[in-house]
Amino acid sequence: MKKSVIVLGQLSSSQWVELEQHAQLVGLSKPLDLTQQEVLSTLAQAHGIIGSGLAITPQLLDAAPNLEVIATISVGYDNIPVEELSQRGIMLCNTPDVLTETTADTGFALIMATARRVVELAEWVKAGKWQASIGPALFGSDVHGKTLGMVGFGRIGQAVARRGALGFGMRVLYANASHKPALEKELGAQRRELNELLAEADFVCVTVPLTADTEHLLGTNEFALMKPSAIFINIARGKVIDENALIDALENGTIQAAGLDVFEQEPLPSSSPLAKMPNVVTLPHIGSATHETRDAMAQRAVDNICLALQGERPISLVNPEACR
Ligand code: NAP
Repeated sequence: MKKSVIVLGQLSSSQWVELEQHAQLVGLSKPLDLTQQEVLSTLAQAHGIIGSGLAITPQLLDAAPNLEVIATISVGYDNIPVEELSQRGIMLCNTPDVLTETTADTGFALIMATARRVVELAEWVKAGKWQASIGPALFGSDVHGKTLGMVGFGRIGQAVARRGALGFGMRVLYANASHKPALEKELGAQRRELNELLAEADFVCVTVPLTADTEHLLGTNEFALMKPSAIFINIARGKVIDENALIDALENGTIQAAGLDVFEQEPLPSSSPLAKMPNVVTLPHIGSATHETRDAMAQRAVDNICLALQGERPISLVNPEACR
């Protein structure tokens, strides 16, 4: 008999057919609409879960005694209790690599949009305010030739840095847990302590994962170290920064502008000052959100879960210790 998999993420019809060859599928497109009882009885049968939308709690795991594997359709897994899964022998798979370039594109879009005031000035034109040649009050800042400070220098951080160094002649600094000599050679990147990087960079771009060590990594003291002309970009997770401290830094002119794809609370409440500031570009967490990349991420998740259910090692296994 086929094993049972709960499908929470969006799969193409061919991915659905592929997965169905290995498992009996239960589509829960809107788990929040189900009663607790319906969710529990579905979980009781499940060997796998693909996608996200259910909070993975000890109670949920208690209700899923047959669960062998969870395949997220994301690279970040800060919302999943990995240790708890490992203790129960449940594999967790994610989707690194296939989203790296697209997320770096989003980061660079935010760098360009904030520096050149693209969103603010496009809205200004649409509002019919372009009545004469513009003056210095509407000028932006150069990106080319400036110093790009990467906080986190893994797959996505390096891809953003490549765009900056090779496309825009930027000098690259990085603050990262480990030393990256190959990238220093390739891009001329230089490693700095976080505080040094903040003081030197024109653009500070955050790409560390959210962990106990990185939560609120940047707060009031860190924003105070940045140049008044600095532009802050976050494409990692909202909680890596103290959002209230960022709002203060923007309101007080401690830094110049911010480009944000992620927030402490998502969706961003319309009452947030960040949603209203002209020097802030806010995106609705679209780092990897292109048709091609979301399809590739879903495919990676399908490949991961098919391998796991067949007793083979998934391509992107977060917790090898779960395979006893
Ligand atoms: P990655 O390759 O694992 O890179 C993360 C980097 O952060 C690594 O180089 C790591 O150092 C470094 N790091 C970890 N903890 C640190 C600390 N405490 N201090 C300094 N550096 C630290 O991951 P990735 O694929 O680039 O993805 C990074 C994050 O981006 C994900 O976890 C996710 O949260 C976020 N993301 C967001 C979107 C979006 O839609 N906006 C899309 C994709 C990913 P080592 O090299 O020494 O391990």
